[in-house]
Amino acid sequence: MSSASTTSAIDAMVRPSIRALEPYRAARHDNSAGILLDANENPYASAGEPALNRYPDPRQNRLRARLAGLVGVRQENVFVGVGSDEAIDLLMRIFCEPARDAILVAEPTYGMYRVAAALNNIAVRGVPLVQGTFGLDLPAMLSAVEERTRLIFCCSPNNPTGNLLAVDDLLALCERSGCIVVVDEAYIEFASRGSMAALVNDIPNLVVLRTLSKAWGLAGLRLGYAVAQPGIVSWLMNVKPPYNVGSLVACTALAALEDVGRERAQVAAIVAERERLAAGLAKLRGVLCVHPSDANFLLVRFANAAAVHAELRERGLIVRDRSGEPGLAGALRITVGTPAENTALLNALLEIDA
Ligand SMILES: *Cc1c(COP(=O)(O)O)cnc(C)c1O
Repeated sequence: MSSASTTSAIDAMVRPSIRALEPYRAARHDNSAGILLDANENPYASAGEPALNRYPDPRQNRLRARLAGLVGVRQENVFVGVGSDEAIDLLMRIFCEPARDAILVAEPTYGMYRVAAALNNIAVRGVPLVQGTFGLDLPAMLSAVEERTRLIFCCSPNNPTGNLLAVDDLLALCERSGCIVVVDEAYIEFASRGSMAALVNDIPNLVVLRTLSKAWGLAGLRLGYAVAQPGIVSWLMNVKPPYNVGSLVACTALAALEDVGRERAQVAAIVAERERLAAGLAKLRGVLCVHPSDANFLLVRFANAAAVHAELRERGLIVRDRSGEPGLAGALRITVGTPAENTALLNALLEIDA
């Protein structure tokens, strides 16, 4: 077992200034019922439901309990933030000393890890995913870990390549790297296997990121969550802005989370369309490869990606050009839309003669 495998070892990895921090104690930490004359709020209930004159629950107890129930963990295992992007930023601020520590990223992947690192003045080392399959290169990842490496970011299913990373590789990384391993599962609901979130109670240095932005259809809400052992969740709670998630957001999320059937049906529809779209794309002359996907998008290699991207845009069809990234020559990332949108895309590509 590595040095990162006990809770106290995790605490020892926290930046000294964060360990010394006396967290801000907001009024609503202590009391949320009674005659509330403690937070300089306006006593008159605002119009509409929920009333917004009071500050929200800084511990987000109801929302965290609900998310924990869905994931199969306890409330103490769940941190909620303004998108999973907030958790990415806070993890860096907790574990990485600016201008000294570093993170490791398996690339090509989600660009926010590098942006958050740059914002926090943290060095980034990128390790290429295996050419062709985009699997994790475990030996390369392990040998890239340096003394100052604190966090490893792995995205599974990976954006923009669409593939899952092998659970065994991720577990080996937890076991052998001595770092906090962050597995970003933004797209896991679309995948052929389940989440790793419930494993956190056996693995002290594993953090799983989830979000309501994709499968739950709530990107505009800005709600993401991290699942980890209670110790790591406590650090996240200590450093977050006390009222990071507003009452309206929590209330809307709780209502949406009631309807698991709707989420399941939409995920099933998107997965079915993903397969139809992949088959249609594969038939096109200019398509060199449709990479297999466990997400709600497809990474597609075109013989002439730049022209296809421009021609689609002319027709009002917007896809993401990823061809400039290392290992992704000719690649466009196409999000699965409604059946009508996907048909429009396929028809446009036929017309363009892509
Ligand atoms: C879309 C996405 C997210 C979601 O971020 P939010 O801030 O929760 O909207 C996280 N990680 C990856 C890899 C994504 O593609």
